[in-house]
Amino acid sequence: MRILLVEDEPRMARVIARGLREHAYAVDVCGDGEAALYQAAINDYDLIILDCLLPGRDGFEICRELRARGQTLPILMLTARATVDDRIAGLDSGADDYLTKPFAFRELLARLRALLRRSRELLPTQLEVADLMLDTASHRVVRGKSEIELTAKEYALLEYLARHASRLVTRAEIAEHVWDESFDPFSNTIEVYINRLRKKIDEQHAVKLLHTRRGEGYILEPRA
Ligand code: CA
Repeated sequence: MRILLVEDEPRMARVIARGLREHAYAVDVCGDGEAALYQAAINDYDLIILDCLLPGRDGFEICRELRARGQTLPILMLTARATVDDRIAGLDSGADDYLTKPFAFRELLARLRALLRRSRELLPTQLEVADLMLDTASHRVVRGKSEIELTAKEYALLEYLARHASRLVTRAEIAEHVWDESFDPFSNTIEVYINRLRKKIDEQHAVKLLHTRRGEGYILEPRA
């Protein structure tokens, strides 16, 4: 899942971005509304976290503009003030939810999960591919009876493949949704992660789940 975080206070932006990355989200950060509109136009984000108080045009205006441009992705507004007027302005501008600063990081994560579940594909909290099970809230991964330990990035990659199980997932799609703008499309990073995942989920099993279609991408599905 790839998120655009729009927050002008560098320290706040750093803390939120780091926390999200630790929880397997890919995050791009920008500090003002115009940059946010540009980023949202050129990248296919799964969700936007938008601070209300920004230099230049505020978060409400940016939110309205995104909707006017036909962006349907979930938008979570962050607000420093908790007045009823602010909350109404946020929702009226087209935001799906809002969170008042300061907030508990766990609550931000829970709201993101809820918004992502409601969006595009009505995402289930548990994903199953044959005997592989992923819990999208706890990031617990089990195959058969054994628990599989994954890094945040390995988990993010596996979750993306599991959400699109039994269909070809291209390298471009993986780069777009699992990595952020710092990803180098000419590197072999994706292959490296795929190989690590394959070791962890398939090595001990006769039925293999992770398959490469050379030059095209990857498919997660059971094959003997
Ligand atoms: Ca701000």
